[in-house]
Amino acid sequence: MSSLPNHLYLAIMSLFFFWSNPALASDTAIVIHGGAGTILKEKMSESVEADYRQALKLSVTTGHKILETGGTSTDAVIAAIKIMEDSPLFNAGRGAAFNHDGKVELDASIMNGDDLNAGATTGVQTVRNPILLALAILDNSPHVMLMGRGAEAFAKNQGLESVENDYFYTERRYQQLMRAQAVKDGTALSESPDDDFEPQIFSTVGAVAIDRNGTIVAGTSTGGMTNKRFGRIGDSPIIGAGTYADSRYCGISATGHGEYFIRAAVSYDICAQVNYKKVTLQKAADEVIQNKLVRMGGEGGIIGIDARANISYSFNTPGMYRAGIDKTGKIEIAIFR
Ligand code: ASP
Repeated sequence: MSSLPNHLYLAIMSLFFFWSNPALASDTAIVIHGGAGTILKEKMSESVEADYRQALKLSVTTGHKILETGGTSTDAVIAAIKIMEDSPLFNAGRGAAFNHDGKVELDASIMNGDDLNAGATTGVQTVRNPILLALAILDNSPHVMLMGRGAEAFAKNQGLESVENDYFYTERRYQQLMRAQAVKDGTALSESPDDDFEPQIFSTVGAVAIDRNGTIVAGTSTGGMTNKRFGRIGDSPIIGAGTYADSRYCGISATGHGEYFIRAAVSYDICAQVNYKKVTLQKAADEVIQNKLVRMGGEGGIIGIDARANISYSFNTPGMYRAGIDKTGKIEIAIFR
C-alpha cells in the first residue's frame, strides 16, 4: 500500500468500509400507493389512466430524489404523500371521500422504524396536509394520536396550514357519496360514466421508504370511506393496522376496508411474521392479505419495504394504484393486477 498515494488509499479503505458495513450505507428504495379496489382497465379511459400514472410518478420520483441526495426516509415519505394529498385524484387531502353528513374528516399516521416513534391524527376537518400534522405529533408532542378539535388546535399551534372544509371538495367524490346513499336507501342511482372504472375503491394514499442509514419510515393518509358515519375511524391512523415500521424487519402502509384491517392488525402482523417466522416480506404480506384477510372478508392491499430495501406489493382487489423505485433505481408504476 505504501506505493499508493495517501488519498487513494483512504478512498479505497472507505469504500471497503461502507461495502462491508451495510448498516452504514444502506440501499435506498421507496414505494407508494394511491388506494386499492375494483379498478378496472376496461372501464378506465386512457386519459384518466394517464393522469393517475403521472401523479404516481411525480410522487415516487420526488421521494426518491430526496433519498438519492442523502435525505431521510421521513422527508421522502412526507414529500411523496403530500403530493398525493394535494392531488384531487386520491382519497386524501383535496379529493378525499365524504362522510354521511357531507363533510370531509381526515386521518393520517407516520412511524419511524428506528425508535418505533409514531404520530397519528384522526377526524380533522381543516388541516390541509394531515400527514404534516401526524409528523408534528411524532416530533413535537409526548402523544401518539390526537383527534378532532384537539388535533386542529395543535396543528394551529405548530403553524400548519389550515383551510375551510370546502377546500377538500371534489364533484367526483360528492357524486360517490350521492350514489352510496342512494344504494343504502334502496333507490338505484345510475353510475356516473366518468367513474365506472372504480365502482368500489379504497383510495387512501401511503408511502414507505428506506434511506442510506437503513431507517424505514411508513406513512398513510386518507379521507376514510365514503358515507362513513361521522366520528368513524378506519385503519389508516392506527399504528399496527394501517401503518407500521420497524427498521429491523419492514415498513408497511395499507389501503382497504379499514374495519377488517384493524381487526387483522394487518401492518403489525406482517412485520411480526418477518421477525418471528423468518419469512420474506412478500411471503408474510401474502399470508395476511391473500389468506387471513380473504378468510375474514376484508378487501385491500399493502405496500412494504424490508430491511434489505426489497419492495413488496400485495392486494386482493382487482387493482391498486402503486409505484416504486427499487434499490437498483428501477421504477415501476402500475394500476391493474
Ligand atoms: N383504509 C381506509 C379506511 O378504512 C380506506 C382506504 O383505504 O381508502 O379508512
